[in-house]
Amino acid sequence: MTVARKIPSPVVTVETQAFWDSARAGRFTIPVCTACGNAHWYPRAICPFCDSGKVEWRDASGKGVIYTFSVMRRAKEPYAIAYVTLAEGPTMMTNIVDCDFDALRIGQLVSVVFAATEDGPPVPMFRPV
Ligand SMILES: [Zn+2]
Repeated sequence: MTVARKIPSPVVTVETQAFWDSARAGRFTIPVCTACGNAHWYPRAICPFCDSGKVEWRDASGKGVIYTFSVMRRAKEPYAIAYVTLAEGPTMMTNIVDCDFDALRIGQLVSVVFAATEDGPPVPMFRPV
């Protein structure tokens, strides 16, 4: 997909390296704890629900709903920033793209798309389904 405005490259850390490697391959993954079964976001080596270190990256559905959003209309290239609650449970901050900003609403179903960045891995954004 294409986004009009330039998207800065994400900062890749030891804890997020696997996520970005998957993103480069077009896969949307999230950390899931194999001890308690909960997925979480942002990525952590220790499960925030049960303190287990048995966290692994798994493919996510890429489906979610808009928890809340705000349209940055005064930006040179207006964009919508949002929190999306994934079907797997966690809520992540992201952008909503490929849509009419005036038609966005809380609770709307969205699915993941990857947006190219300046010179780093693509970042996950969402668009209405
Ligand atoms: Zn856990």
